[in-house]
Amino acid sequence: MRDYGFLFDTTYTNLPKQFFIKSKIGTIAEPKIVVFNDELSEMIGLKFSDSSSTEKSNIFSGNDLPEGVDLFSQAYAGHQFGHFTMLGDGRAHVWGEHITPSGIRLDIQFKGSGRTPYSRNGDGKAALGPMLREYIISESLFNLGISTTRSLAVVSTGEPIMREMVLPGAILTRVASSHIRVGTFEFAAAQSDKNVIKSLIEYTIKRHYPSLINKDNKELTLIRLVMEKQVDLIVHWMRVGFIHGVMNTDNMTISGETIDYGPCAFMDTYDPNKVFSSIDHGRRYAYDNQPKVAQWNLARLAESILLGIESNIEKVLPVAEGIINEFSVVYKKKWLAMMGSKLGLFFLRKDDEKLIYELLDWMEKNNADFTKTFRDLSNATYPHSKIFDDNQFRQWFDRWQNRLKYNDRSLQSAISLMKSVNPNIIPRNHIVDQVLKSAESGDFKPLSDLLIAIKEPYKERTSISKYEDLPKPNEQILHTYCGT
Ligand code: AMP
Ligand code: MG
Repeated sequence: MRDYGFLFDTTYTNLPKQFFIKSKIGTIAEPKIVVFNDELSEMIGLKFSDSSSTEKSNIFSGNDLPEGVDLFSQAYAGHQFGHFTMLGDGRAHVWGEHITPSGIRLDIQFKGSGRTPYSRNGDGKAALGPMLREYIISESLFNLGISTTRSLAVVSTGEPIMREMVLPGAILTRVASSHIRVGTFEFAAAQSDKNVIKSLIEYTIKRHYPSLINKDNKELTLIRLVMEKQVDLIVHWMRVGFIHGVMNTDNMTISGETIDYGPCAFMDTYDPNKVFSSIDHGRRYAYDNQPKVAQWNLARLAESILLGIESNIEKVLPVAEGIINEFSVVYKKKWLAMMGSKLGLFFLRKDDEKLIYELLDWMEKNNADFTKTFRDLSNATYPHSKIFDDNQFRQWFDRWQNRLKYNDRSLQSAISLMKSVNPNIIPRNHIVDQVLKSAESGDFKPLSDLLIAIKEPYKERTSISKYEDLPKPNEQILHTYCGT
């Protein structure tokens, strides 16, 4: 095989044997590369610019794996909608850890590549639509400047997948700084062997938080650092109106990257209770609940890590509780600063919180579009759309204009700030739905057009693009399906 630039140095399989099972995959009769991420490929030091579709189809279906790949599936547990379950990669195979030319360690993993010892009753497969959704939304988050796992390729397998209906099958190749999840720690804690959880703590620190090596109280600091990463991540999601949809503990990484794009979507009209997942009847993972759920998940992480600490539990327990309780305080502070930046405020004054909430209340009552409202405000002039022809909004706008005068920088800087945090293009759910439907029927042009459109989400546009348009009432997609 040609040299594609892969350089594997896999360390995960040095963990105790409970953490993984080496696994094999079958041959795919008719693989077809549907989308390949040239930009990511180059960024991580791979050389695919001269390779043919056939080569890519064979590599990213697993028919022709590069040297150094030694497939395994990972064990983990998780609280799914609040209930603890033993899980594991039921349809994923890790290739190994690739080292980029600049020395960054990345997992490369297949999703939808067939059954594994953790598959339970599942078929181990994935449908084309959900894999392309993961590709689109993860690329969009990356372009928006939000920490995420990424998608290198999607290959259609030509095999039918049995779900509520028959769907075309696909395999996604995912790139992640690791696949260590809160659920990996819960799995380790459930092994009733202190050495197992201790080895995971050591491994995670070495891989993601090396500054903690040989530090006192490193376990407690690990909880704090993961907490801070998750605060930052959720604040970013809230900034762009992103709803993850399945924030189970197995879908939350220790690295702070967004992972496992299931029934996720960006909201159109602002609704703090918005849920897209068709199975989330209790609204557990609604937009506004995301910070609370993250905190709940982190408490599960802390409980697991505490089992690996030698010192007196009565001494460390209150400290760990303190860190988890701090989440709300740190989150509120960062969320307010973020919302302030969406309104061009460089620092917050006493009444700013009220100003922010008044706008959000108005938006909710008037079904204002989240993305469009903030982008329209980003010119700092009275916005044209009909929805703003409203007295309550006018009063709010005047107060905001006055407030902008207290900035210690020019109005132009405030405008630049707003335009750097308020995107004008997000992959709207109705467009994603149309793109996936076209792809399922063999037309991939809408997909490539959308991937180009979401490349520079903050860029000033000279003409209105169709991707900025809100869905018409008959185009609105109320639910997205896991499609697993
Ligand atoms: P997810 O909701 O995608 O995060 O998946 C939750 C768990 O179900 C994970 O352990 C997955 O590996 C497993 N899973 C999801 N879909 C399948 C499938 N088609 N076959 C086997 N396992 C699956
Ligand atoms: Mg998952």
